[in-house]
Amino acid sequence: MAREHKRPYKVFRVGGRSFPVYFEYDEQLKKSYPAYPDFEKNPEYTGEGNPFATAEQESCIHCQPVSPGQPPPGDCGGCGWFHREQTPYDPIGICMCEARRGNKTDA
Ligand code: SF4
Repeated sequence: MAREHKRPYKVFRVGGRSFPVYFEYDEQLKKSYPAYPDFEKNPEYTGEGNPFATAEQESCIHCQPVSPGQPPPGDCGGCGWFHREQTPYDPIGICMCEARRGNKTDA
């Protein structure tokens, strides 16, 4: 009964990589939404060893506010280490935190 073919949403290019994002259907909400990569579950890194992250990803212990004096961010999108390449609203970026670097993937 369920028609399960992936509908493409967008391809995001970050750090020399391409991340195709597809719509997924939520049975409970009865609507489709763009399903971004889960980098917490399946980490991926730039050639320099910086981890990719999504803006909506839950913040980690190394998070820091964008400006001093602000409360710690709840997600990577609000973190001072989160680097967006194209626009201030990019949903996928790179974590520039030194403490999280080092896990290189050589393609
Ligand atoms: S951008 Fe990096 S340092 Fe900041 S919360 Fe996300 S993973 Fe942690």
